[in-house]
Amino acid sequence: MRLLFDVDGVCCDLSTAVVNLVNDIHGTSFMRIDLKCWGYQEALGLSDADWQPVEASVSAPGFAEHLPPIHAAVSAIRRLSAQHDVAFVTCPWKTSPTWAWDRKRWLDRVFSGMAFDYVPTKSKALVSGHVFVDDKPSNVHEWLAENGRHKSGNVWGAFVLSQPWNRSNVLLPRIDALVELEEIVRRCAA
Ligand SMILES: [Mg+2]
Repeated sequence: MRLLFDVDGVCCDLSTAVVNLVNDIHGTSFMRIDLKCWGYQEALGLSDADWQPVEASVSAPGFAEHLPPIHAAVSAIRRLSAQHDVAFVTCPWKTSPTWAWDRKRWLDRVFSGMAFDYVPTKSKALVSGHVFVDDKPSNVHEWLAENGRHKSGNVWGAFVLSQPWNRSNVLLPRIDALVELEEIVRRCAA
């Protein structure tokens, strides 16, 4: 079976890196839990002028290559890859000219020795698979609308991975950690 995973907010901790960057630049003391809605600038209440240097740093070549992994998620994906095909479906940061390449290097290092496909795209719904996991509810909604309708026999499920910024969405299926997905996949495959 083919399992599709988003990267940022699923197995890569971009949010901590961005929050730390904001604190370093502006002397603030934001925490990851303060990200209560989608979009860093809006969630942290930053003006355009305050956001600009943060965006410039995130967009700098190499930034995406050195982000911290979410270790429990990496371990779960590694275990799942032993029996299933894994593809990472991730949208590059739009103002970074090297994000897609930096992200590939990050995946090669963090998932070294593991076979996977890598699909950098904003149009995640165009990528087909049996399971889709993302921390952005609109991505899960769009993926389900496209793949659930046309290929319902092949789709096991699409899930929002719980994060502080997606708690307000209660309509879509969600999981709190990828270990839950391991159990769901086990049951579906049985
Ligand atoms: Mg994400």
